[in-house]
Amino acid sequence: MPTKVLSKFTTSFIALLLTFLCRPLPGISLSVASDTCTSNSKMRIRVSKIIPAQPQHWVGDGFHVFPVFGQYAFQQNHGLSPFLMFDYASPKKFPVNKRRQPLGVGQHPHRGFETVTIAFQGEVEHADSTGNNDVIKSGDVQWMTAGRGIIHEEYHSKEFSKTGGMFEMCQLWVNLPKKHKMTKPRYQPILADSIPAVKIPTENKEEETEDATSSAGTVRVISGSFNGVKGPAKTFSPVELWDVLLPTKDLIVELPFPESYNCVVFVRKGEINVYGNDESESPDMVGSQAVAIMKGEAGGNVLRLSAKQKNTSLLIMGGEPIDEPIAARGPFVMNTSDEIRQAMIDFQSGRFGR
Ligand code: MN
Repeated sequence: MPTKVLSKFTTSFIALLLTFLCRPLPGISLSVASDTCTSNSKMRIRVSKIIPAQPQHWVGDGFHVFPVFGQYAFQQNHGLSPFLMFDYASPKKFPVNKRRQPLGVGQHPHRGFETVTIAFQGEVEHADSTGNNDVIKSGDVQWMTAGRGIIHEEYHSKEFSKTGGMFEMCQLWVNLPKKHKMTKPRYQPILADSIPAVKIPTENKEEETEDATSSAGTVRVISGSFNGVKGPAKTFSPVELWDVLLPTKDLIVELPFPESYNCVVFVRKGEINVYGNDESESPDMVGSQAVAIMKGEAGGNVLRLSAKQKNTSLLIMGGEPIDEPIAARGPFVMNTSDEIRQAMIDFQSGRFGR
């Protein structure tokens, strides 16, 4: 074979090989290839696993929730870290509460992680042992760091109890790295007007319009950053938490997402298609109130998706995985069972919330 032909053959063979290696194939480890293929190029983040909507249960008497992560909650190495648990209370109408006590959950302790509560409809009231007493309303977020120990209560607000109405909220548990588990408790009230709503750029510039109802959508950046705009929440490890609205049906959008982070997409309302690198492959459909654990072996740095219904709402979350053992029992999340025992002793002897 003449040299010229050989080199041409070799070049096209390498190109073919690279194309093959860069394509995510479920079940095949790409740990060597992913470093070389993805650095400056776009590689789509694939669906690794879909967890369908789970049966609901009551938390206290005020929160009727789906345990969104199902059996994968508190598990290591399933692509959820730094998130531990996710309860979603889907829209539910509550009548006027004629009792003296609002509905909710009374005093209980936490140690070793953070609770993040988002109110979508209705109002959540919170009081804790460090002296915070606060109400979050539609679009507001409270980011509570339990750290070495906090005791709090969570209720429908007094105002909401008087009027009744639609109620929708969620609570995420975010793990703390080992070195921060015993940090001082902290409370961040994050009001809706402090959360930047970033427009999603469209591929076709002519489609861009000031009319929010026909735009590609918005990303409310609660923590982390989207297109260079940072969210207000302070975190102990890198955490992305985006409240995403896709108003237009069938419009494909691309959302860049940090390559080394885990990524999870929860469909709060509507349904979506998630597209892979291979255009000929059919997209993965994620239905209403299902959650998709993304990435798997293939990694990726851009989410390419479209809403299958108008006004589809997503929560996109992720972050740098915390690669440390998880020991979880009730309201405590530590690294070892000895630390869980210590948490119980400390709580029972009144050493929480100081
Ligand atoms: Mn709690």
